[in-house]
Amino acid sequence: MFTKKGIGVSSGIAIGRAYLLDRKRLAVSRVEITDEQIKDEIERFKRALATSKDQLEDVKQRHYSDILREHSYILDSHILILEDKTLVNGTAQAIRDLKINAEWAVKGVIADFVRLFDEIEDEYIRERKLDIEHVGERILKNLMGQRMDGVVELPPDAVVVAHDLAPSDTLQLKKDRVVGFATDIGSRTSHTAIMANSIGISAVVGLEDVTERVDNGDLIIVDGSQGIVIVNPDGATLLEYRQRQQKHLGLLEELQKIKGLPAITIDGHSVELVANIETPDEIEQVIDKGARGVGLYRTEFLFMGRPDLPTEDEHFRAYKEIVEKVAPHAAVIRTLDVGGDKISSALDLGDEINPALGLRAIRFCLKHQDIFETQFRGILRASAFGKLKILLPMISGVQELRKAKQMLRDAMDRLRQENIPFDESIEVGVMIEIPSAALTADILAKECDFFSIGTNDLIQYALAIDRSNEHVAYLYEPLHPAVLRVLSSVVKAAHNHNIPVAMCGEMAGEPLYSVVLTGLGFDNLSMNPAFINRVKRIIRSTTLTEARQLAEEILSCSTTDEATHYVERYMTRRFPDEVGAG
Ligand code: PEP
Ligand code: MG
Repeated sequence: MFTKKGIGVSSGIAIGRAYLLDRKRLAVSRVEITDEQIKDEIERFKRALATSKDQLEDVKQRHYSDILREHSYILDSHILILEDKTLVNGTAQAIRDLKINAEWAVKGVIADFVRLFDEIEDEYIRERKLDIEHVGERILKNLMGQRMDGVVELPPDAVVVAHDLAPSDTLQLKKDRVVGFATDIGSRTSHTAIMANSIGISAVVGLEDVTERVDNGDLIIVDGSQGIVIVNPDGATLLEYRQRQQKHLGLLEELQKIKGLPAITIDGHSVELVANIETPDEIEQVIDKGARGVGLYRTEFLFMGRPDLPTEDEHFRAYKEIVEKVAPHAAVIRTLDVGGDKISSALDLGDEINPALGLRAIRFCLKHQDIFETQFRGILRASAFGKLKILLPMISGVQELRKAKQMLRDAMDRLRQENIPFDESIEVGVMIEIPSAALTADILAKECDFFSIGTNDLIQYALAIDRSNEHVAYLYEPLHPAVLRVLSSVVKAAHNHNIPVAMCGEMAGEPLYSVVLTGLGFDNLSMNPAFINRVKRIIRSTTLTEARQLAEEILSCSTTDEATHYVERYMTRRFPDEVGAG
């Protein structure tokens, strides 16, 4: 038996048999070819490229109606690599000049690419080499006539162990058989994490070398709450975890019972619990989980997985579907937030050395006003069918807010001239996710209708921690004194100006923080729907007075550790079944 510590990204306890997802390097050999064979060899390479592309398109299509398909835009970036001129022409040239077989040429070109990436200092961009390796592997498998796709047959209760779960891998797993994920790399906000959460599977990432230390069929426990995996546990450990798993299942049953109830503290203070969604058809699930509306619709997903831009009608239809399904509640539509970790093949984002600080979100929209206007028109038209609100991402100061609002007013003027109805009093909110916005929250509050704090980015920028870099994931600390002070001061600024304040980063859905966030004064918490009832259950069992006291205690801590221990002790005492249940 041994235990490995990683980062728990999707809670719950899974006990199952390890299934190693094959990521072994293919054995490729060099074969000399004659002048006469060159043409055929290049043809063979091009056929493998075409097959690879068809396969990726097929994976995308097959999973189109699946809950995970919103993440399939990454497959587009793989398709783009297949079309990359350096890869296509470089390989053909190597075949021609060196008179070598296509496999060897592909291997060489991919290795050159990877070497280039290895030299890049920026961790995030360097990590993109994984995508190139995945694509290279796919071409090689096709050249060598090996099958790559098809739904992976798994044993029941499989714990999928992989170096890195590429979205194309995850999409092809038979989900009713997977109970857990364990990967060598990844971070809290990585795609594996988000996907595992949306399907409710326990996951631990960033385990460094778990693939090397686990064999197929090993008994393995994934404790997504504590971020550990235990391989080949002894009898006592297994028993303990089976009991904890039971406790967790008991908790789930209890949660079912409060599904239709509001999140109101014992002393009558209410907190709106709403959902983060990425596609309109998640709405049924959202309502089923008891969410009182949509607090964040990440519209960039409308721009992903396609080569062209969405039309005004497509925007309109998506927003109308949401607003109609979520009625009588409201839906917050966040305008396009591309750039940084969010890529889209429909938009030319250019190569940026520092994409997280680059032409992202509102900056991109204010530069490409035609795209922004199309989106505004779509939102406004849909606002005639229910309660929609607009949320502007990555606002750094009031000037950007004014520019965006001016564009919105212009779009309204044009709709009026065209006699197209819309909600004249549609609310406009600002995401607080850049420290400069947090520091000027009092100024922003005077000119907008609500705030929504995006802690995924706010923590990244406040603590200077790349949200997608597993090497610094340990520093990603929601209870850092700086983060707590920022949260508290933004809430105060909002309330001083009588506007509500929401939180929509991952922190909002973490049950451990529910009492603290209630005590800090958040009016609204927007989260992955899977967490709504757990957070609700905690809020319903606490009082506002108690929550405020806890928030004050936490605010007076000098270190993250102090605050974390305090909250953990408090929550374990007050909610033992919740905390112990994973
Ligand atoms: C955030 O930054 O916290 C947020 C909710 O937005 P995203 O994760 O889409 O950047
Ligand atoms: Mg953000």
